[in-house]
Amino acid sequence: MQGQPMIILGEDSQRMQDKDAQSHNISAARAVAESVRSTLGPKGMDKMLVTSTGDVTVTNDGVTILREMDIDNPTAEMIVEVAETQEDEAGDGTTSAVSIAGELLKNAEDLLEQDIHPTAIIKGFDMAAKQARSEIDDIAEEIDVDDTEVLKQVAETSMTGKGAEQNKDLLAQLVVDAIEHVSVEAEDGSTVVDLEFLNITSESGATAAESELLEGVLVKDDPAHEDMPTDFEDADVLLLDTALEIQEANADAQLSVDDPSQLQQFVEQEEQQLKDMVETIKASGADVVFCQKNVDDMVQHLLAKEGILATKRTKQSDIEFLKEVVDARIVSDLDSLTAADLGTGTVSRDDDSGWFVVEGENSHGVTLLLRGSTGHVVDELERGVNDALDVVAAAVADGLVLAGGGAVEVELASRLRDYADSISGREQLAIEAFADSLELIPRVLAENAGLDSIDTLVDLRAAHESGDERAGLNVFSGDVEDTYEAGVVETAHAKSQAVSSAAEAANLVLKIDDIIAAGDLSTSGGEDAGGPGGAPGGGMGGMGGGMGGMM
Ligand code: ADP
Ligand code: MG
Repeated sequence: MQGQPMIILGEDSQRMQDKDAQSHNISAARAVAESVRSTLGPKGMDKMLVTSTGDVTVTNDGVTILREMDIDNPTAEMIVEVAETQEDEAGDGTTSAVSIAGELLKNAEDLLEQDIHPTAIIKGFDMAAKQARSEIDDIAEEIDVDDTEVLKQVAETSMTGKGAEQNKDLLAQLVVDAIEHVSVEAEDGSTVVDLEFLNITSESGATAAESELLEGVLVKDDPAHEDMPTDFEDADVLLLDTALEIQEANADAQLSVDDPSQLQQFVEQEEQQLKDMVETIKASGADVVFCQKNVDDMVQHLLAKEGILATKRTKQSDIEFLKEVVDARIVSDLDSLTAADLGTGTVSRDDDSGWFVVEGENSHGVTLLLRGSTGHVVDELERGVNDALDVVAAAVADGLVLAGGGAVEVELASRLRDYADSISGREQLAIEAFADSLELIPRVLAENAGLDSIDTLVDLRAAHESGDERAGLNVFSGDVEDTYEAGVVETAHAKSQAVSSAAEAANLVLKIDDIIAAGDLSTSGGEDAGGPGGAPGGGMGGMGGGMGGMM
């Protein structure tokens, strides 16, 4: 037996170890990260994504791009997860987080080539991320949460580049107003933002300047019956997610009757059931019924006769939002309905659109109605406004903001280099590499604005060297200046999260030194993710080359 290698893997399996595994993973991850770079900042370009069924998305939003891209490579997917974590935790900063992760891996590769062990790099990255987070807390400025001017700047900074340019001022104001509406003071005096009381809805066919903030819920439905009343003050509102019709047990069911009276009896029985439904609703005291499912013609008619308003096939998301705003329970079984299930609100019909607006009695629900010329335009606007809502909510919650346009990254880099000097061992090199990686942000902002990235970085470093902590690049003027004063303001929360998730993702990739694939490694992912550029059988490098070619 001696000298015979033991075979434990299947015939088709492939294995890659150590340096090969690392460089394979690093190039896949970098390819994805580099694909979104060109969209960073207000001057970033957009991407057009076409699905296999021909659906088109035009966007500048990092997480949207990565989600829609048909990525089929396990390492590349780890980078997509960075974007998703960032989106979930902070709502903005996805492109930055992913770009930094890519740059960390690029710089780690150089260190690996100098024979620095991955463990030292991982440790150094961890130390740097931790230090960076504490420096962010130190650099951050505390704002007054009632200072709407600075909150508007936070909103504008996160929306720029996402189709909001022309109406930046109005949209930022709407975002700030919306957040203000759903903010409540907690018992300990802190501000809590109830985002579940805020809904965004969009409509194409009008200009973004016609976007508005409505108090309450907007339900884009008609009354089920034309004779129904449409306006109520202090209405008792019933939310139903069951149909108001006879449930057919089986579409093919057959009924055999011996004589006509039996048929008559059967019809009467069904009618009685429908009448009972209306009676039950009436007895509960409901004035208005929002029904997620269908409503039988006869029920519509009977409800109208009782002066009860009903809708049918109302969107589930609307029903759920109504539940918060009118404080009702969603009823699935009519037999168990009681008055306690109902909520209270004022229902009215908007003259222009004909839609219902429902205002809660005791709650502060609002709907942000975004408008734009076409579907693609509104979709991108909605993504921008969503980012803005999240960051303004974070700014209101913790009151901590920073100068954007690369200012914070350059300041962090300089502080991390000082920190690195105090560390002995190989981790020091990793911390320095981390500092270099953060400076990718101003470099790319400059590049995307058609400026010289080296010159910009030199100017920025010099400004920070001389103590100007808020010196960043204003891409509109092209100057290095105090970006906080210029109104380019970001949240400490999103920045901290971006640094953490980038470091975690890079470390995850660096920790892998062995890839065992139950199939051919050279084609797994390479072909799909590479798209038109990734020639089949392009091997390990095919992934990187393919992605690079596509973007
Ligand atoms: P992300 O997905 O990371 O949020 P964005 O495309 O939204 O990516 O770009 C965010 C970056 O753009 C931040 O670094 C922010 O400071 C910067 N930025 C926003 N407005 C300006 C501006 N007027 N000048 C320079 N940088 C800006
Ligand atoms: Mg952004």
